[in-house]
This record gives sequence, structure tokens and C-alpha cells, in this order.
Amino acid sequence: MTVGTRIGVLALQGAFAAHRAVLDRIGAQSSEVRTPDDLDDVDALVLPGGESTTMSMLLESSLLFEPVGKRIADGMPVLGTCAGMILLAREVTDGRDDQRSFAALDIGVQRNAYGRQVDSFETELSIRGSDAPFHAVFIRAPRIVRTGDDVEVLAEHAGTPVLVRSMSVMAASFHPELTDDDRIHRLFIEQVRTTR
Ligand code: GLN
Repeated sequence: MTVGTRIGVLALQGAFAAHRAVLDRIGAQSSEVRTPDDLDDVDALVLPGGESTTMSMLLESSLLFEPVGKRIADGMPVLGTCAGMILLAREVTDGRDDQRSFAALDIGVQRNAYGRQVDSFETELSIRGSDAPFHAVFIRAPRIVRTGDDVEVLAEHAGTPVLVRSMSVMAASFHPELTDDDRIHRLFIEQVRTTR
């Protein structure tokens, strides 16, 4: 990675510590983003899982919503997982009325859409360009219900996209930070490296 490249992890709520642990493990420099000043110090951003409604509110109260949206629109690489994916989606169904998203990825998502019986589940995924299966953990996951023409589907579960990418924006409906497999973070870092 380019010397000095720093990955920010949005640390307002949710599973940000687990993302930092993976980034540490693969030798990427990272820092927590809670304020607009923190955002100025980073070259890329991870939006973790957690609760998208809460994160949306905290993004506004911390005055981060507008600057994060602008950085993403200007091409800053971003990885959103679970709630983080909801924050990136162009359309969100079953959200709160006042919930906002950056609309940076041309997908539609439905919150908590895997149904009560399977609120949380784990499964093996086949990831495009990678041989070994990826053990994926889904927790009250959003379901991708629409993907735009420019959206590349990198993995599917039962015919539904679960890992997608468009330009410098990547999103997973599951939690790659909760397993030992760091391939998705490495893929993101590669993306960051080529964007710089
Ligand atoms: N159900 C959560 C939401 O809307 C996402 C769950 C997660 O990130 N594990 O925001």
C-alpha cells in the first residue's frame, strides 16, 4: 500500500473495533472517524455493521453526514458492511422515515429482510475471483432487492447478491470483520491502492 495511506473506520456505533482488528492484522494503517477533522486524515472509509437508523442520526449530530457524502461523491473508496451497506444504498425500504443514506451505490436494500426464522445465519459463499469458500455471518442483514447496471456482483446467496461493487464503493450484507478470513478487506485495500 502507498506509504501513509490510512483507512478510516466510522466509529459512531456498531462493529468498528472488529474492522480495525482485521485492518491491523493485514498491516493496513487505520484510525477511528468520529468528527469531520478525523475524516480529513483518512484516504478511505469503512462503514461498519450496527444499526443504520442510529448511525444515520449520529452522522448528522456529529456533522459528518455532509462531509462523508461529499468525500464518497469525490471518489473516496468506501466499504460498507451490513448497516454500512444500508447507508450506501440508493433506496432503503423498511427503514425509519427520517433515516438517511448516502445513495452512493445504485442498489435497493430492504432492512432486516431475511425473515424472523433466519434473523441471523452463517453460510459459505463463493466469491468471484477467489477459489476457497468464504464463511459469511449474516446478522439481521439487509437484502439487496435491486442492483443497477453498473453494479458488479461479487457474491450471491441463494440467488441474491450479497457482495457488490461499483467503482470505488463496495458493500456486503454480511460481516466479513467477524471471521478470520480477511480476503474482503484485502480486496478493499487493493481498491484503495489503485484509486490513489
Ligand atoms: N438491521 C440493522 C440495520 O438496519 C443492520 C444489522 C447489522 O448491521 N448487523 O440497520
